[in-house]
Amino acid sequence: MRRLRRIKILATLGPASSDLAMIRRLFEAGADLFRINMSHTPHDKMRELVATIRNVESSYGRPIGILVDLQGPKLRLGAFAEGSVQLQNGQTFTLDSDKAPGDATRVNLPHPEILAALRPGHALLLDDGKVRLIAEETSKEHAVTRVVVGGRMSDRKGVSLPDTDLPVSAMTPKDRADLEAALVTGVDWIALSFVQRADDVIEAKKMIRGRAAVMAKIEKPQAIDRLADIIEASDALMVARGDLGVELPLERVPSLQKQMTRMARRAGKPVVIATQMLESMIQSPVPTRAEVSDVATAVYEGADAIMLSAESAAGKFPVEAVSTMNRIGEEVERDPIYRSVLTAQRPAPESTAGDAIADAARQIAETLDLPALICWTSSGSTAVRVARERPKPPIVAITPNIAAGRRLAVVWGVHCVVAEDARDQDDMVSRAGQIAFRDGFVRAGQRVIIVAGVPLGIPGTTNMVRIASVGPEGGADI
Ligand code: PGA
Ligand code: MN
Repeated sequence: MRRLRRIKILATLGPASSDLAMIRRLFEAGADLFRINMSHTPHDKMRELVATIRNVESSYGRPIGILVDLQGPKLRLGAFAEGSVQLQNGQTFTLDSDKAPGDATRVNLPHPEILAALRPGHALLLDDGKVRLIAEETSKEHAVTRVVVGGRMSDRKGVSLPDTDLPVSAMTPKDRADLEAALVTGVDWIALSFVQRADDVIEAKKMIRGRAAVMAKIEKPQAIDRLADIIEASDALMVARGDLGVELPLERVPSLQKQMTRMARRAGKPVVIATQMLESMIQSPVPTRAEVSDVATAVYEGADAIMLSAESAAGKFPVEAVSTMNRIGEEVERDPIYRSVLTAQRPAPESTAGDAIADAARQIAETLDLPALICWTSSGSTAVRVARERPKPPIVAITPNIAAGRRLAVVWGVHCVVAEDARDQDDMVSRAGQIAFRDGFVRAGQRVIIVAGVPLGIPGTTNMVRIASVGPEGGADI
């Protein structure tokens, strides 16, 4: 099974998408990796989802990535007795330390530090700013607020406090417990929420010790000022437009999205565009024109992946949302303007053997109009550097390392195959041809380009480019 687009699709799992049949359908519709949001997922459910995804993975024989997204110091409301309530403009609404389920007059705010720091006059933005409250009376136990902009409010929605100074650390005790549970279960990516500085990422990496790759979610103004350092410390970036648009004026989000996408691409770090991409599809089988255009913009910018949140986790049309993204990706990538944008934005290779080889391989592949660029990679880093070039042909990455294969699920243009390491150079060339042939990238008689590090199996030794013809059964002629 192969995709016909380069951009990847990351689908969040939730109540609308947690059984085997649905996860299979999402994968078939185009989801390349799945996100488990620890804000809404207990540990036993997380383990069950991971097992289900691995089950789908083995039945298709394709590596599938799993991203566990840590809540971070995100402040959230407690739960409501009825699941949700309607808040009317002008009514009072109390947030308190009482853990009892909420109603239309009050709800638990399980963060004593907010209640302690909140003062009359401070704004509280709920659910990505959809509902706005102003504190009128505050104490350590409760805050009475006035609803300025009402709306429907449901369990555990986010709370942002633009006016309140909060002493919060990068990883909460809940994050540490969730991280440990995820690492023991075995996942591929960990997303860190509300990163403010490179040290937040470095600290998390110390705990993770290479057991998963780390994606920094950029959703705080503090992170924007330190973007270069954060990108350097991270393995990937997420443009987390939900909280970003609450913490900063909404009209700054588009330019920040472009800036972050370009910086991440220049650094060769995968970048995911997230939140409200097809928001209306939570309720409707058809997106708005504006949403289609937004998804297309991310594709034209050469982002590595686009993400679905509630659309796939809790919406009525999870499969349709994935297939909509899939179709937009395929269509945009057929547009000649897409190619010219990517070419114009291509960053110069860095002065390393790996980049020199990646650049040369891309040039050869494009000059000869080859159908595939194949790379043997043990850690996955060769494939990431080749993807940084945004070459015209698809990248087929062959790795003996399943963990590397799963991490590559988020990387632009990479079709990853897990296979035994090659015995020698001849085996490497002939198996590259066979694999690309089997997966439908090349036909007999066509030529491919192969990138590798020789001797094989030693990370960071990319030093070889080879053109080979594919034989009648797929094995490449030497
Ligand atoms: P969240 O992150 O869904 O965990 O809040 C994404 C965002 O803020 O955009
Ligand atoms: Mn967020």
